[in-house]
Amino acid sequence: MIIGDIAEGLSRGVDATVSTVSEAFFEPVIRLGVTGLSRAGKTVFITSLVANLMARARMPGLVAAADGRIQTAYLQPQPDDTVPRFDYEAHLAALTGPDPFWPEGTRRVSELRLSLRVAPAGLLSGLSGPRTVHLDIVDYPGEWLLDLGLLDKTYGTWSAEVLARLEQTPHAGPFKAAHEGVDPAAAHDEPTAKALAAAYAAYLNAARDAGLSDTTPGRFLLPGDLEGSPVLTFAPLPEPGSKRRGSLWREFERRFEAYKREVVKPFFRDHFSRIDRQIVLVDALGAIHAGPPAVEEMRRAMADILAAFRPGRNAFLSQLLLGKRVERILFAATKADHLHHTQHARLSAIMEALVADAKSRADFSGANTQSMAIAALRATTEDEIMHNGASLPVVRGRLAETGKAAAFYPGELPGDPSRILSPARSGADRWLDADYGAMRFAPQPVSLKPGEGPPHIRLDRAAEFLIGDRL
Ligand code: GDP
Repeated sequence: MIIGDIAEGLSRGVDATVSTVSEAFFEPVIRLGVTGLSRAGKTVFITSLVANLMARARMPGLVAAADGRIQTAYLQPQPDDTVPRFDYEAHLAALTGPDPFWPEGTRRVSELRLSLRVAPAGLLSGLSGPRTVHLDIVDYPGEWLLDLGLLDKTYGTWSAEVLARLEQTPHAGPFKAAHEGVDPAAAHDEPTAKALAAAYAAYLNAARDAGLSDTTPGRFLLPGDLEGSPVLTFAPLPEPGSKRRGSLWREFERRFEAYKREVVKPFFRDHFSRIDRQIVLVDALGAIHAGPPAVEEMRRAMADILAAFRPGRNAFLSQLLLGKRVERILFAATKADHLHHTQHARLSAIMEALVADAKSRADFSGANTQSMAIAALRATTEDEIMHNGASLPVVRGRLAETGKAAAFYPGELPGDPSRILSPARSGADRWLDADYGAMRFAPQPVSLKPGEGPPHIRLDRAAEFLIGDRL
């Protein structure tokens, strides 16, 4: 073990003790992590969750709200001064203004503190007054979580794995072209390094747009402040016979190690290790629409995400967590408002099967997990239309691109999830017996009554699972 790790472990231990003591004697804090790959719906989820916790008329599934025990909920300055604040007000204004639009999604880690005044339940209710529970919501890109796997890899193993995978994907052409004629053993020069890194980042973006979720290093997609810095200027290379000092290979190897040390580890230390509850948002409908390879990628990404929550898997992480673990993880299929409610149970079942599969893959025996289908912001209404003499359950909304009204029938999800999972696992390139459509709706203009948050689907149940027991 290296000294840095011991020091990290110690300071985390002191931190943990201080926070346990202060939680017992003062005001409890729940740190809720919100993650998911880019465009999964994190920004919309947090905005709608906070709005619906502040105005709780649409939250009957959150028991403390239904019982009237949440007296008030208000935003407070967050505890971490150096973490950007989640821009709740701007996002809410985008979603609920007179001409609503989707806000820009998550690009980096951010935080928001919502404090709830809660009256005690049950036996204690007559004995003590209300207490304050702080909900610290931490928004972070799922791509960064997938970087955990890099800590166990050397530059050589990572490169070999990526290059082998590139052989099988259709999006790697330009990167392979950039690679041609580059000698990893030749002296490092920055223009070559930059060109290779840019071509690799372009490949990762294309792969992501095609629904592939294996996208390490995660910061290549969402660089934040690190854009253009040497820790992000490397790419996989074939291992040369001789690795001379000053060669491109040696320099990339050094940068890969710096990425692990300066980027990946601090994220896990400063943010991930402090999370108590976690929601992982998954655009399952988007993946189903994109086809079996995208579903298979999603399944693999979910297993990798679960593995990050499995204590003991990674030496660095075990040292950091010192036995502390995330207690609950919710996997939520987002954007369920694209489906008529008659299909929601099927989407939930698919999500559940994916989680069960990911759990077995990650050899997971940790937190309490659950899965459900939600829409953080309902952008559609339900209807039935006649089609070929039969009634078809559809959703209606305003198209995001044109603003025109449209009715949408996405296709019928199978009742048996294995009809989605099996073709994905066996490498099918399209669905044999069905076709699933996708459509992007704009948020609907809403006029909220006093006490009402934005319309949603099962956001209250998600909140009950995530924080209900602590209220
Ligand atoms: P992030 O990248 O994870 O922060 O994702 P966002 O929250 O920005 O969501 C990405 C996109 O998904 C949005 O721009 C919307 O088009 C869509 N979206 C997210 N949540 C919902 C939802 O509840 N309903 C619908 N219909 N679309 C949603």
